[in-house]
Amino acid sequence: MSAVQIIVMCNGYRGIFLLGLQRVICMCTDCCKKPEAEREFSCTQYEQHCGAGAAKKWKASLRIEPGCVPEVPEGLSHSICDPSAQLSSVDSPVES
Ligand SMILES: [Zn+2]
Repeated sequence: MSAVQIIVMCNGYRGIFLLGLQRVICMCTDCCKKPEAEREFSCTQYEQHCGAGAAKKWKASLRIEPGCVPEVPEGLSHSICDPSAQLSSVDSPVES
């Protein structure tokens, strides 16, 4: 798989956001003990896993760690929902 991986933070939990797939592999201490397949969440599932599910705004809850990836220059801290961000092509599927 060739998805772009971006380190994100959600409510203090660190995860790997798979750009394009809109999946997050959690890297919290509990999940690190599990096989990767069991650590993979959808964005909304991950938000709930991190205790931020009440917001139901994963694009606001998931934050890119500044400086972690070349696409996000250090000091440029923006959220995934920032229309000027690299991730502007990420569209949340309509979830029922
Ligand atoms: Zn976790």
